[in-house]
Amino acid sequence: MQQKITMGINGKLIVPDQPTIPFIEGDGIGPDIWKAAVRVFDAAVEKAYNGERKINWLKVLAGEEAFNQTGEWMPESTMDAFKKYLISIKGPLTTPVGGGIRSLNVALRQELDLFVCLRPVKYFEGTPSPMWHPENVNMIIFRENTEDIYAGIEYMTGTPEAKMLLDFLVNELHVKKLRFPETTSFGIKPVSKDGSERLIKSAIQHAIAHKLPSVTIVHKGNIMKYTEGSFKNWGYELAEREFGGDVYTWRQWEKTKAESGEAVANEEMRISSMGGKIIIKDAIADNFLQQALLAPQDYSVIATLNLNGDYISDALAAQVGGIGIAPGANVNYLTGHAVFEATHGTAPRFANTNTMNPSSLILSGAMMLEYMGWRDAAELITNAVGKTIRNKTVTIDFYNLLKEGTLLKTSEFGEEVVRNL
Ligand code: NAD
Repeated sequence: MQQKITMGINGKLIVPDQPTIPFIEGDGIGPDIWKAAVRVFDAAVEKAYNGERKINWLKVLAGEEAFNQTGEWMPESTMDAFKKYLISIKGPLTTPVGGGIRSLNVALRQELDLFVCLRPVKYFEGTPSPMWHPENVNMIIFRENTEDIYAGIEYMTGTPEAKMLLDFLVNELHVKKLRFPETTSFGIKPVSKDGSERLIKSAIQHAIAHKLPSVTIVHKGNIMKYTEGSFKNWGYELAEREFGGDVYTWRQWEKTKAESGEAVANEEMRISSMGGKIIIKDAIADNFLQQALLAPQDYSVIATLNLNGDYISDALAAQVGGIGIAPGANVNYLTGHAVFEATHGTAPRFANTNTMNPSSLILSGAMMLEYMGWRDAAELITNAVGKTIRNKTVTIDFYNLLKEGTLLKTSEFGEEVVRNL
């Protein structure tokens, strides 16, 4: 009988011992990395729970494989499985080219309202990195996934819609700031209080659950006051209103400082003065990108809007070894729906070569197990990937940069991780 993961009335997942989890192998290098990764997942679960727990994998179709077999890129049955079983995992998918076809990843995010794009960024010793001290990077990014300039409300200059919008802006709102009105295209940036709060709330809850030192709200509120500035303000208000006992905000600190006339304190003084509470602070996006390079140890959980999050995720991933190793997930913490995924694309030139790095998918699986509450299995995987890299037994991407060690195929890397569990 199929066992389903469900969401309990207390907002906590109910995970049976043998849950069914749908997976999409993915296109291009997807089948290679999936085969290597699934062996690791099964072996880790077996080892952690002595055979008492087991995942029943349910193959579902999407992307090129689905198109070739069914004529559809994202069959209804796949979407239904993702809805029904709550948690799923996927390899990379080809973005179909041509009018009217949405990116499959975007379709999944929208259908399941996966409002958090989650990207942990952690350094594994021995990974080639452009940083002097990559071991200081240990962050988790909560990127808002449904709003911002990504909402797709855009109008090309010259279209009737752009003309209507131009007329409205000039004649109704008396906008005088358009430099070249007749050749301007428009994009609308919706940022809501509800959308911002649910994202920032998830980030704070994660920090509390994992005993992390801080949550940084990254924004460009100095320029975009009512969208990104509000994101920051709503975040601070929410933190103080709903998590007062657990957190201490920079806003509160500023107020105390002003009242007591104290000099500006450094980060350590702030922390010690707060009795171990989680610090909620903010950073302007451009400064954050600088600080993430200069003082990454000062940042832990990052809560940010969609576009900032896009840039930040890839920039931070590069600091700790790039896209071959960065895991990710798209999550709705309210319904429990979550899709775990390799963050890189299909690398079509390398399809069926059995050469690419399966770490991104393997570590996404570890995130999935952690999300299910199977922490022992998740930890086994993370540690085994760490050991495999430390031993310099690596795939071609790392081997080329390290210029030493043992070159492994995708499948051999998976086997090595299993051995190191
Ligand atoms: P890509 O990530 O597929 O590849 C870029 C380069 O990164 C590759 O040539 C390869 O050198 C390297 N690379 C990628 N994955 C690697 C791995 N696991 N190990 C080692 N090296 C790796 O990006 P692209 O070429 O821009 O996109 C190809 C296709 O993938 C497009 O159709 C795109 O739309 C799609 N895509 C899908 C996703 C997704 O499903 N999440 C994400 C990005 C791109």
